[in-house]
Amino acid sequence: GDWVEADLGDLEVSDDVVDSGPQPVVAIVGRPNVGKSTLVNRIIGRREAVVEDVPGVTRDRVTYDANWRGRRFTVVDTGGWDPDATGMNLRIADQARVAVELADVIVFVVDATVGATDADETVGSVLRQSGKPVILAANKVDNQQLELEAASLWALGLGEPQPVSALHGRSSGDLLDVILEALPETPELKFDAERGPYRVALLGKPNVGKSSLLNKLAGEERVLVDPMAGTTRDPVDELIELGGKTWRFVDTAGIRRRDRELQGADFYAAMRTRAALERSEVAIVLIDASEVLTEQDLRIIGLVIESGRAMVVAFNKWDLVDEDRRYYLEKEIDRQLVRTPWALRVNISAKTGRHMDRLVPALEKALDSWSSRVPTSRLNAFLTDLVHQTPPPVRSGKQPKILFATQASVEPPKFVLFTSGWLEDTYRRFIERRLREEFGFAGSPIDVSMKIRE
Ligand code: GDP
Ligand code: GDP
Repeated sequence: GDWVEADLGDLEVSDDVVDSGPQPVVAIVGRPNVGKSTLVNRIIGRREAVVEDVPGVTRDRVTYDANWRGRRFTVVDTGGWDPDATGMNLRIADQARVAVELADVIVFVVDATVGATDADETVGSVLRQSGKPVILAANKVDNQQLELEAASLWALGLGEPQPVSALHGRSSGDLLDVILEALPETPELKFDAERGPYRVALLGKPNVGKSSLLNKLAGEERVLVDPMAGTTRDPVDELIELGGKTWRFVDTAGIRRRDRELQGADFYAAMRTRAALERSEVAIVLIDASEVLTEQDLRIIGLVIESGRAMVVAFNKWDLVDEDRRYYLEKEIDRQLVRTPWALRVNISAKTGRHMDRLVPALEKALDSWSSRVPTSRLNAFLTDLVHQTPPPVRSGKQPKILFATQASVEPPKFVLFTSGWLEDTYRRFIERRLREEFGFAGSPIDVSMKIRE
């Protein structure tokens, strides 16, 4: 089937896809023709954004990578959202609202030679209420005399106007310095060496081999028991060293206790599974490969997906699997687990030790996917191509447009599409599939949602 075998060679996600950290987003807003695209060109230092003398020309791309004094950020040109041939028109106030939602810093461009218009006032009031840092760029200040005109823009109530000439570059370095100052500190990725060992939930129905696997992995002398005081059931974690790293297997007391009756009770089992997931970053779901897949196996997998944790599915008792069984197992997997083709799979035997060495790389890969981030500009370049090749289906005569997308969070990766209309579920699933093809995410659930501007 489609399952990702944890053989790993081809599963590496290249470094340029997975950013070392989130990149702040700077949105450029303003009326048509004030010089947004010219300013974007100036900021990115290339003539990449298309500038047209005709107001409201649609541009293909809206996001660009920028780097000023070694600081990287993403620039969004909202000029690219102007009316298009099919008549979609994002009102200027909406445009500002979208920009506020997705950006860390907003650069509001006003034409200083014209002064503040009604439309500028409207945008200004949206931005004032946003609580986000706003930089007022007084553009087309090509010479000293025009700086006086720029001063009149104080009236917008957005603080000091920054005079700039996007076209000639005058004072653009000063503007960039102001932008840099407004950028948020890049948040650290949540996982680092100091955070301590990754927490693993070892899940599976009774008799699938959890306790055997734990014993095999731990060996006897390596096990460190870490009791958590103050709880009635005293869940006990075990710290196990594997592949040069320490892993915390959560609530192993329940696995070791072997009170079968209690473990078997559905209600209790589901509660225990949920609690273990709550306390972990990644789950190993054990499945007995020698037997038919059961409802209970599927329920456990469902709970992991619901929890948004990274997942490795280990088919245990592989020593009992013969050619025949293997054939039927693959059929069962194709049929029962169609919704999780992304899960990482290992075929192991806790009894013989078969493929124990594949478990850790699979866990690491799943966690890597789980915390990976696609740079905003890569994401949007990818979506632009995708929409170009396969546009969203037309609904009641309208073609929904994807204006911009951003990865809102990691652990697991969540994507938000800002659209001009409803995208069918099938189309969103298609996007999810293509995202996975392009960027990996093996071993992690991902989420694609949308925000609609009508
Ligand atoms: P947008 O619609 O806001 O993206 O505006 P553009 O970047 O397409 O610019 C609109 C027009 O203003 C173009 O003809 C630009 O050459 C011109 N323009 C942009 N910046 C400046 C500037 O700093 N000074 C002058 N004189 N013209 C500019
Ligand atoms: P748990 O209830 O999930 O903790 O399962 P146990 O670890 O107690 O295992 C249940 C039974 O399956 C025991 O009799 C184990 O010896 C057996 N078992 C576990 N792993 C394997 C395996 O990989 N191959 C075989 N043949 N038997 C296994």
